[in-house]
Amino acid sequence: MRKEGIAREWAEPINQILRITEGHDELVFGGNLWKMEFQAREGGLDWLLAAVARSAAEIIVEGAQARLRICANPACGLFFTDNSRTQRRRWCSMAICGNRHKVASFARRHAS
Ligand SMILES: [Zn+2]
Repeated sequence: MRKEGIAREWAEPINQILRITEGHDELVFGGNLWKMEFQAREGGLDWLLAAVARSAAEIIVEGAQARLRICANPACGLFFTDNSRTQRRRWCSMAICGNRHKVASFARRHAS
């Protein structure tokens, strides 16, 4: 986000978590078609942290191509990947920060 490089030592905590197996995909027959279903590793929520670490690692590998953005809500501060077609997504979540912005704008317009 700040066009700074990634220090080598920052990768180690991510690598430590990546060593935790998130789980694996399995073929599951769902009535009349096959689908791939993620099977989380049993035992605690480590697999969830591993999924977050995997996302961080992918963003680092993608570099500037990652389309990493910070939410336009100054009180939020969450990062997100902008996969929208127009590449102009502003909010981490339209349902949360986007709607709050809309409601605040509406209230400002109608305050007078
Ligand atoms: Zn947000």
